[in-house]
Formats: sequence, structure tokens, C-alpha cells
Amino acid sequence: MNQNNAAANAYPTPAPSPPSGITATPSTGSPITVVASSRAVVSGRLTSATIVISQTTGKVTSIFYSILPPSDFPLGTPYVDHSPHILLPGLVDAHVHLNEPGRTEWEGFYTGTQAAAFGGVTTVIDMPLNAIPPTTTVEGLQEKVNAAHGKCWVDVGFYGGIVPGNLGELKPLVREGVRGFKGFLIDSGVKEFPAVSVGDISKVMSELADEPTTVMFHAEMIPPITDSVGDDVQTSLPPLAPHGPLNAYKTFLSSRPSSFETYAIEAILSLAHLAPDLALHIVHLSAMEAIPLLRKARAQGINITAETCPHYLSLAAEEISEGDTRHKCCPPIRDQSNQDRLWQELREYAAEGVIKTVVSDHSPCTPDLKLLPSHVPGHVCAPGSATHTPELPSEQGNFFSAWGGISSVGLGLPILWTEMTHRGLTAPDSAITDLVQWCCVNTAAQVGLEKQKGELAVGFDGDICVFDDDAEWIVEPSTMLFRNKCSPYQGKLMRGQVRETWVRGQRVFVRGAGNGGFVGKACSGRLLLEPRVKGLKRTKS
Ligand SMILES: [Zn+2]
Repeated sequence: MNQNNAAANAYPTPAPSPPSGITATPSTGSPITVVASSRAVVSGRLTSATIVISQTTGKVTSIFYSILPPSDFPLGTPYVDHSPHILLPGLVDAHVHLNEPGRTEWEGFYTGTQAAAFGGVTTVIDMPLNAIPPTTTVEGLQEKVNAAHGKCWVDVGFYGGIVPGNLGELKPLVREGVRGFKGFLIDSGVKEFPAVSVGDISKVMSELADEPTTVMFHAEMIPPITDSVGDDVQTSLPPLAPHGPLNAYKTFLSSRPSSFETYAIEAILSLAHLAPDLALHIVHLSAMEAIPLLRKARAQGINITAETCPHYLSLAAEEISEGDTRHKCCPPIRDQSNQDRLWQELREYAAEGVIKTVVSDHSPCTPDLKLLPSHVPGHVCAPGSATHTPELPSEQGNFFSAWGGISSVGLGLPILWTEMTHRGLTAPDSAITDLVQWCCVNTAAQVGLEKQKGELAVGFDGDICVFDDDAEWIVEPSTMLFRNKCSPYQGKLMRGQVRETWVRGQRVFVRGAGNGGFVGKACSGRLLLEPRVKGLKRTKS
């Protein structure tokens, strides 16, 4: 819908030239920047828009529901009409692992946030594990903040971690500005971030019951079944004894059945009464079988939501070839019918749906840890090996030994748009507005940034993604800006391309421009450490 008239009553009429409240500052350059397009997602609708951003604060100061000409603004005002490309709010990716400090060879703030900016992501929230130290103490957070300082191309927030024994750190971490917490109910794959028990979770629920935060869980848990052999997740021993070749994806998938997810979610729900006001959240939901449980819980008033990821919405177990461990992640990518069910649920987000957000779960590692066979793109020699095979050839393509995690920060928007195109979902205006809800509005709310990020609105940060919804391109190493060029999306044709990314009114990335597209002032991303505040509900006195 490109017409202006639909907005006539709901929104202010465009002001005559120049818009009121805007004055030029002759000597110090323009105080404002203006972007316009015949298509922009504003207030949940696709509409024409002219957006005025203050150069001083980086915030949106006015939005007009039509394209105003440059002559409506003071002489010298920077002005770009991006028509017919779509102006979207910058994406808020509420689940990335940037791994710095400690595992910076896996990823880092610099490369991870460049990859984000490439894909129109203007805010990322870093997970508490895989960096060393993990963000499970105030001191750990401080180390991470020091490591991030001056290296970020987009804005970055941080989660805190829940591990056995760090109960006393949780409230102080809220005060220090973590945007939520994450805990595991199964081994995380790294020894410095152990799983919590049901007993630990009850204590956490009581501790954080009245805090302005979100408590999130990696919801896989081993039910008491006979052939369980341990609880290692990401590497080494499988949680269930494998039945079949270790390089067959099917063997891996059957070692992590849907019941792991439903069992964990049941455990969490059984404790929800301890903290009725606390926002609970399931990260990277994969199993469709969990949806009815969550729906029922929400109907009973339990404050719980879930996210899913582009890989569960675009990749299917049937398509994964032998040894292609780029697809290994936990919980696993399941079959096509599961993927279809997740899409069905996602499109219900506004009503009874339980999946409210889509996030990357960008979880990279060095390519050698993927143990890829030589025919799979991304294959590298094992460290110290003179040949093109790992030292143990039997380990090549072993889904159980390879590190679990998929690299995709900054690819989410084109992946989703491509998949929606295949599914015939992109025709109505609501297609792009739904996407904005999943990846911008709702992700911002999940981390308490709903007054600052995730929408093109007056008073919000001028974070903009300029999206060409028609362009096609192929994912290749030059377009994977994360540190290690190893991703199951390599070689895939994408529909939809980010042309520009703006953070707080400054152009950061322009596709095809010099310096790899990074035209902005280097590393002007901010660390989002302002503590979350309570919503409308009163705290206990
Ligand atoms: Zn993760």
C-alpha cells in the first residue's frame, strides 16, 4: 500500500515547507538528515514516508506519510529518496555469539558487527557463552565490555548467563545493564558454562521474580530413557547412543529427538508459578511438538514466548548431505513437515502464536572444528596437518564430533524473504510488515529496547535498513563478513538484498561502495548498557 490517504486521519498531515521545528544551522552543517521512499514500514504498515533524523541525537524527529521533496527542507540538508526500495527499521538480532574475548578466532565484535551491518542488522545482543570468561558475573561482563569497546559497527547489548552457583550475581548484572539471561538445561558444549538443574532454576525464578528482565532457556533436556549415554551437546559424546553412520545427518537427528525440547519446556513451565511477572523465553525453538505446550501455557496466563531461527525455517533434514556438518546445530534442524509447521505458527505471532521472534543464533567456530570433508565448501586442513584431511579421517563429516552452530548473522532478512518467496507469501503488504514484527519490533521488546529500537518512529533511534526486495544474489565468501567463511548458506541464491544500513542517523554500510561498503565512521556502534526498567506492573513494595 503506497497511498498516503489511508494515513490521513491516523497521522499528522505533512507540514508545509519547511516542516515546522526544523531550522538550518549555517556554519556547522545541517542539523538533520532526511530519507524518503515510496515504501517504508512505519507503525506496522507499508506506506510512503519521509523520515527526518536529528544529526545531534541520532533520533527520528518527524515522519511524514508521503514523499516530501528536498525543497521542503533547508538548503544543504542531506536528502535521499530510496524509492522503490523499502525503508525498514534496522533489525534487532537478539541472539548472536560473538565469542570475544577468549575465542576471538571464532568471531569477534569487529567482524560480527560488520556482518550484521551488511544485512541491515543495527543491534545485536551477545550471548553469555563461548567467550572466555562467560558473562556470568559482573566482572565477566566488564571484561566483555572492555573487549567490545571501540570495535562495534552496530549497537551491541549483552545477556548474562545462569550457571550453578551464580545466583548472587544475577541482580547486580541486571543493574549493570544485561538485557536478559540465558541458561542451559543440557550441557552447553563449553566447560565454563555448565547446565543448571531444575532446583537451580527454581532459585533463579525466585531471585529474578520482580526484576525487569527476560529469563531464557536452551530448552533441551534428556528425559529418563534407557539408552542415554551422557549429556554432551556440541561436541564429543552424543546424548543418545547413535544408531547408524556418524556422518549421516539422520543418525544425528535421531539422537536429539523432539522429546528433548518438550521435556525441557515442561520442566520450565512447572516452575513458572514461582515468578508470574517474569518474562520467560525459549531460545531457538525447533520442535513443532513444543508449540501446543507453549500455547496452553500462554492461555493459562504464563508469561512465556519463543523464538526460532532462519535455519529451522529454510533448511530441512532431508536435504542435508552426508558429512555436511555446516548444518549441525542444537536443537537440530528437523524435517520439512516440521519446518512447515514452524512457518504456520510464526505467521500467527500477533494472535495466539507462541513464536514471536526470529533471530540468527549466529554461533560460529573455526572451520577446522566443523571437520568438513574435502568436498564441502568451507573445508580446511586440520591445524598442523600437512594433508587435506584431518588427522583422523574417520572424523571427517562426523556429526557427533563436529562443533554445533550455524553462522548467519546478517543473512536473516534475505533468507526469510527468499523462503517467503518460495512459499508464495511475499505478495501482500503484510509480508514485509510481519517480517518487521519478527525481526525488529518483537526482538527489541524481548530485550527491553522497545522504546528505542525496532521501529521507525518519532523518538526512536534512526536505525534504518534499506531493502531491495527484488534483487537476487548468491552467498559467497565475499558476502559472508563474519570471521570464518563457513556456513550452510554458501552458494545459495538469495532474493532480497540490503542496500544500505544506517545506525542512529549515520550511514554505516552501502552495498557496493568502497572500503567493502563500510562508508561510515569506523566502529561508532554503542554498547547498550542502560539498565532495563520495569514495565507497567508495580514491583512488590
Ligand atoms: Zn545460541
